[in-house]
Amino acid sequence: MIIDIHTHIFDAAQHFGPKLNADLVRCGVDPAVWGNVEERHLETTKAADVAVVFGLQASATGWNIPNEAVAAHVAKAPERLLFFASIDPLQSDYMEELEKCHRQFGAVGVKLAPLYQNAHPQDKRYYDIYRYCQANGLPILFHAGTSFVSGTPLDYSRPVHFDAVAVDFPGLRMVLAHLGHPWEGETIAVIRRHAHVYADISALYYRPWQFYNSMRLLVEYKAQHKVLFGSDFPFTTTGDSIKNVRALNSITGSSGLPEVPAEVIEEIIHRDALSLLNLPNPLQK
Ligand SMILES: [Zn+2]
Repeated sequence: MIIDIHTHIFDAAQHFGPKLNADLVRCGVDPAVWGNVEERHLETTKAADVAVVFGLQASATGWNIPNEAVAAHVAKAPERLLFFASIDPLQSDYMEELEKCHRQFGAVGVKLAPLYQNAHPQDKRYYDIYRYCQANGLPILFHAGTSFVSGTPLDYSRPVHFDAVAVDFPGLRMVLAHLGHPWEGETIAVIRRHAHVYADISALYYRPWQFYNSMRLLVEYKAQHKVLFGSDFPFTTTGDSIKNVRALNSITGSSGLPEVPAEVIEEIIHRDALSLLNLPNPLQK
């Protein structure tokens, strides 16, 4: 079974604010290249058995993808999609939104992004969210590591801050996205310390040298069993991610550098994230 733990949907024309659009222009990204994200999402995620889907609520950096829209999208393929709610701690009703998504819209997890949401991972508003998630068995997937967005402190994305959260919430299931790039070593140090803290490998394969190094580090620290497969659609697709993660050793060429064992790569691609995160299996509904 393959679980894509990290996919986005949005409609850039409707859901992106001026600040985000300016960041995209500055970084030379044209949202038109993603086409109809919702339609493509339903197609590409068929390369996995199950996909976790979220939008993003981050007023500080111009993201406003309504949770209702994501829940409605998941309802188009409930036999293989799972909805994670994105909660913006800068909104006064953030706890009501969390409860509504959980109780009414069927959210089975939460997506947070401190760098995008302009709040430190140890902010007391996040702590309200962590408390609720721990009490209700909802895992949290955090954006960790760098991003193209501007105007917020990069420090909020440092993997080490999630270490302190895990100490305070030992029962909370957490996923640090993108191996916390470019602090993959720091992420590995965090995930191997805590039983319920994981990382995903989404959006990394297209930096092949860094990805290869990160995977070697994982093997050296024997932390590969804490790593989940994810794509970060639409920034790449589920199918392309599977294909290119499998090809990661091609960078070694005839250099004599050590390979990442093929079984480590396959175990990550086939990791049962549903069991590890206590998520319902929609295939068994
Ligand atoms: Zn993402």
